[in-house]
Amino acid sequence: MSGYLEARPRVGYFYAGRPASSIISERLHKLYVKDYKAVPIVVSESASAYDAIVTLFLEDVGTLFVVNQKGYLAGVVSRKDLLRASLGNKTLEDVPVSIIMSRMPNIITCGPEETLFAAAKKLIDFQIDSLPVVNPSAEDPRMMELTGRVTKTTIAKAFVELGSEPKV
Ligand code: ADP
Repeated sequence: MSGYLEARPRVGYFYAGRPASSIISERLHKLYVKDYKAVPIVVSESASAYDAIVTLFLEDVGTLFVVNQKGYLAGVVSRKDLLRASLGNKTLEDVPVSIIMSRMPNIITCGPEETLFAAAKKLIDFQIDSLPVVNPSAEDPRMMELTGRVTKTTIAKAFVELGSEPKV
């Protein structure tokens, strides 16, 4: 099962000669987003930048997903989006997150059935920390239902788990 040995009738077991790297890579490509995703932390579009900062601290996350009145994904607001909004003399209670967030349809997402490797590649390619895990809504496929989040921490956890597997 590990790929080191193969069996042939009337020959018996023999060393398959597969390098460990190909076995690790095969294992890596069998990890799925649905099995590793974390709970999404959301704020509503009408929340203020102040509320969003409080939520960041209370939930101990770096990125919040913004949802519209129906609960569908409307955007993403990151730590630096909020820091930028705090520069100057604005009253943060009066700044709605909807004007500082990155918004749909420009949000990079992943689906539950995608591999964790594909999600990690998106994080690297788009230089972002977090991906919303979404399903298209049954009532309107352009709208995205939020089912989770994949962050750099999710990838680090999977990496550690993979490295902690018993050695063959
Ligand atoms: P930070 O801004 O705290 O470094 P990120 O690197 O994740 O965090 O975000 C960089 C920028 O990309 C921010 O403006 C943020 O709104 C945006 N962003 C973050 N995640 C996504 C995403 N999944 N899709 C599109 N834009 C995103």
